[in-house]
Amino acid sequence: MQGNMMLQPLLISNLIEHAARYHGDTAIISKNTDGTITTTDWTHVAENSKRFANALASLGTAHGDRIATIAWNNHRHLESWYAISGSGMICHTINPRLFPEQLVFIINDAQDKVVLFDKTFLPLISAVKAHTPTVEHFICLGAFDQDVATALPEVKFYDALIAENSAEFDWPNFDENTASSLCYTSGTTGNPKGALYSHRSTILHTYAICLPDSLNLSANHVMLPVVPMFHVNAWGTPYAAAMVGCTFVLPGPGLDGASLVQMIDQYKVNIALGVPTIWQGLLAAAKQLGSSLDSLNRNVVGGSACPPAMMKAFRDLYHCETIHAWGMTEMSPLGTSNQLKAKHQQLSSEEQLKIRLSQGRPPFGVDIRITDEENGTHEVARDGHTTGNLQVKGHWIIESYYRKSNSATTADGWFDTGDIASVNEDGYLLLSDRAKDLIKSGGEWISSVELENIAMSHPNIAMAAVIAATHPKWDERPIVIAIKQQGAEVTEEDVLNYYSDKIAKWQIPDKVIFVDAIPLTGTGKMLKKDLREQYGSVLLES
Ligand code: AMP
Repeated sequence: MQGNMMLQPLLISNLIEHAARYHGDTAIISKNTDGTITTTDWTHVAENSKRFANALASLGTAHGDRIATIAWNNHRHLESWYAISGSGMICHTINPRLFPEQLVFIINDAQDKVVLFDKTFLPLISAVKAHTPTVEHFICLGAFDQDVATALPEVKFYDALIAENSAEFDWPNFDENTASSLCYTSGTTGNPKGALYSHRSTILHTYAICLPDSLNLSANHVMLPVVPMFHVNAWGTPYAAAMVGCTFVLPGPGLDGASLVQMIDQYKVNIALGVPTIWQGLLAAAKQLGSSLDSLNRNVVGGSACPPAMMKAFRDLYHCETIHAWGMTEMSPLGTSNQLKAKHQQLSSEEQLKIRLSQGRPPFGVDIRITDEENGTHEVARDGHTTGNLQVKGHWIIESYYRKSNSATTADGWFDTGDIASVNEDGYLLLSDRAKDLIKSGGEWISSVELENIAMSHPNIAMAAVIAATHPKWDERPIVIAIKQQGAEVTEEDVLNYYSDKIAKWQIPDKVIFVDAIPLTGTGKMLKKDLREQYGSVLLES
């Protein structure tokens, strides 16, 4: 016998309709590409998304077409997302920090029909345009601009399209398994691969990230996604903000520490999300500007491991609780987030900090396991010690990559993440490394993350990457590539001594190299592949 309840497909258009109807006057604050601020609200975002849906239809787009965006986090970008997915097309967010060749590859692989872009990315558009034959329209996300019109004579302007089109639009009804958006993996090795989300997977993921033990979001919050909308859909926050009807503060191109401090203080942001490199910049700027970040109660750190020193700085200097989260493009992205359980409440704050530094536990909808082989099916003990290959399964996890016919899962239906981790008895995940970043010294594994965390807890080190350097005797040995804190003095010997009472002697790195900058991926992670290419042979030279 079947249940008697209404069967309504889970659609992204439901989110924006809900936000407009129940939270219509809640503010959306958006920094434009030219640095000005636009204050709008959910009513107007919903209205403009319908105007833009009409505009896209008038340009000859159809259900299932891929519409690309190369844009900052701003209100036009937000409106276009709802217009594209809401009307049954696929919103393909592109990371502008990719090389032009990768961009061309991605646009052609997706067969994008329209490309929306912020003026900042005009040079990129000009560079790739001749190589992207499927693109029929380029739309600049803003008002008419002479420079853009001169460089790209056929361009259309978003604001003009909004002005010309009606806000009367009936969102179509369709199967909830229809594709809604497309994100390519960062592609540090080989060509990027597409993760194609559905309306159903997106709505279920949105429910999960709003839960109290995930991001704990509500209509009372003011949320700032620093993580870009082109990095796994800003971790799903544009959907979550509409689901709960919170105030949404979009930082535009202002991702430097000082701009973020100013946004947080001015708009009383109480939850902000980003990768560790962003928080490094924010902490330095807050110190320099003398801001106490009064409104900021919580920050979410993901994308790379949260260094303990960073979590302590937020807690001790700013009374800000750091939620450590783990996920990946293939997972929409949320896999785990770190909130304590009732039994942890009695622990001392130092003991709690230890738990909080792990990547946390999965919400309902994700299952995790550790196996003893890559793509294997044999699960190892959930004892908090045994490490292995981290695999996941769930409602918003990839089954196969875009336009690839083969399954991306193991024989028994799990997705192998490429991360090395352990899980403890309470279900908390602790990542040791990416499989390819582990260091194998004389047959023993050393975690680069652990060595980086120690280096970054040194008061005079701002950032550190630990990589494997080829060694004539031990195959590989760890070396540290470090950036000093501004104006600080620290020597190689100081750093190596600093390790001596913190880890086993054989794990202490062989060398410290000071640099002015560490190369970052398009999503702000340290590009260890480049560092390995540059410094991987230094131990052979000495
Ligand atoms: P991406 O698909 O670009 O978001 O990258 C996903 C990868 O980032 C994961 O497989 C992890 O290796 C890494 N990652 C994400 N979050 C964390 C975290 N909290 N701690 C350590 N690594 C992380």
